[in-house]
Amino acid sequence: MPDILADEFAFLGELVGDQPEAWDLAGLLPVDLLRKLGARGVLCAEVPASFGGLGLSSADNGALSAHVGALDSSLRSIMTSQGIAAFTVQRLGDREQRRRYLADLTGGQLAAVAFSEPEAGSDLSAMQTTITPDGDSVVVSGHKKWITGARYADLLLVLGRFGDDAAFVVVPASAPGVSIEPVPSPMGCRAAGHSDVRLDDVRLPASSVLGGGGQQLQLLFTTALTYGRMSVGWGCVGIIRACLNAATVHARTRQQGGVVLAEHQLVARHLAALLVAEQVATRACEHASRCWDANSAELVVAAVLAKHVAATQAAAAAATAVQVLASAGAQDGHVVARAYRDAKLMEIIEGSTEICELILARHALTVVPEPKC
Ligand SMILES: Cc1cc2nc3c(=O)[nH]c(=O)nc-3n(C[C@H](O)[C@H](O)[C@H](O)COP(=O)(O)OP(=O)(O)OC[C@H]3O[C@@H](n4cnc5c(N)ncnc54)[C@H](O)[C@@H]3O)c2cc1C
Repeated sequence: MPDILADEFAFLGELVGDQPEAWDLAGLLPVDLLRKLGARGVLCAEVPASFGGLGLSSADNGALSAHVGALDSSLRSIMTSQGIAAFTVQRLGDREQRRRYLADLTGGQLAAVAFSEPEAGSDLSAMQTTITPDGDSVVVSGHKKWITGARYADLLLVLGRFGDDAAFVVVPASAPGVSIEPVPSPMGCRAAGHSDVRLDDVRLPASSVLGGGGQQLQLLFTTALTYGRMSVGWGCVGIIRACLNAATVHARTRQQGGVVLAEHQLVARHLAALLVAEQVATRACEHASRCWDANSAELVVAAVLAKHVAATQAAAAAATAVQVLASAGAQDGHVVARAYRDAKLMEIIEGSTEICELILARHALTVVPEPKC
């Protein structure tokens, strides 16, 4: 393991400790802890050193995300949002925007990324939020839904229509016209600060629009979601590792019928399934990170595949782990109960399971040649 990762793992261990269960029950993360991690560059660790970041490769950031995912999916969700925001600014912003916003994002300010709307979930082309130029200003109006981390955010990266195209605009959460309402009692990732965001005629300098103007909608969301899929995929690897660990420890120690659970073959099969899940998800994410680090043309599909495999494996693994622990894990406050709730949500975000399958099916049709008559 690179020294920098060992240092960050130790720092995270000290800072997080045994608090995730309490955060989950309270539905809240400590903001000062998020700012500390943000100022250290951990929340968007791939930002290059020249912009104040840690400059990690995708593979190393993946290892970091898996580590955080095993500790606490709410915290990893914040990491995903901050990372998407930073990567999107890096990719789509002009030089001044990169300098300014990446310094904010590696300096302790927190960001959330807002695509989804009441009528635009899987289908973002139905989006109704508008970014309207008006002299030296733009005016942003719309309603965004279920925005991870918006409760804690200083900056909101908002996707909206820009004439016939689309754009991302950076909106300070404190700007007049912005209101943020936490989602009451989310099923999982309860401390991730999911919120609805309303933007009522929010007037901002025109320089807040990334890249200065409109671009194709698909390009914008694919750019942002590709980073998000990598991060969620690696986070799911962490969930699976936490489940594998909890189930194995329990099966080694709990006795029923005069032997430890691990000696009952049907329970042993659950442990095998957990190991398979961990290996399969890890390999899919490693492949996607290799594509990312090599700037491969395969990246977009590899990221969808990694997220899809890791999320479905995590949901199945968490259910298996609860089965192995039975009543010992069937209570809020237990790591496998939390994993069960958190993992299910990973099948909804960054392209639901069905949307990933549609993308992968389209890809299958392009890679398998039609038979010659
Ligand atoms: C925990 C969590 C965190 C989130 N964080 C964010 C965030 O930070 N930023 C943000 O912008 N949004 C966020 N979202 C919203 C998320 O992106 C949407 O929930 C997601 O895109 C699905 O949209 P929807 O919920 O409206 O479901 P719908 O689009 O209504 O889909 C409902 C069901 O129909 C299926 N479906 C829809 N269309 C098709 C189709 N064409 N073919 C086959 N099946 C289809 C879906 O897969 C799903 O199973 C978050 C949601 C959750 C639950």
